[in-house]
Amino acid sequence: MARVYLSLGSNLGDRLRNLQVAIQRLPAYGIYPRQISRVYETAPVGETPDPRPYLNLGMWAETALSPLELLDALKALEREMGRTEETGRRWLPRTLDIDIILYDNLTFQHERLTIPHPQMRERAFVILPLLEMTPDWILPDGTPVRALLDNPTLREQEIRPYEASLSLSGD
Ligand code: AMP
Repeated sequence: MARVYLSLGSNLGDRLRNLQVAIQRLPAYGIYPRQISRVYETAPVGETPDPRPYLNLGMWAETALSPLELLDALKALEREMGRTEETGRRWLPRTLDIDIILYDNLTFQHERLTIPHPQMRERAFVILPLLEMTPDWILPDGTPVRALLDNPTLREQEIRPYEASLSLSGD
């Protein structure tokens, strides 16, 4: 099984419940959550027509799926959870968005998928949960996760721990 780090976000509907349902549904797609971070609330990234904040969390999971199979499985779960159709605009409200950040120690380049996720170093909601769970992890290019905090753009981002947390068991 591969060890993968995923970033989950929701900014539509009952955001906390969307994240919890996603955690419970992932095993049906062959993705087994092993560790989740706290929930963080973050301002949306990009030029969004909808400024509602996101709830985000980071997750370590195990899977026997290949990187592209993993992407297809996550897209299928996003569809199942009713992510709104994209109509050419990139940043729309999301019932559920799951990005693949890391996949073992792999560097993967394909027209549909880049691993590590190309924007991971610029996103506090990706870095902070990773740091919280596995501060000693080393990225495929040799960068320790701790060193990612040195990026000054992270300090400008609005992010704070959310008042509620989630568990793997759904309790
Ligand atoms: P987004 O709408 O921002 O979630 O991303 C849309 C598309 O980005 C996906 O359908 C993928 O084909 C592509 N993509 C490229 N690299 C990644 C990655 N590491 N994780 C998730 N999606 C990716």
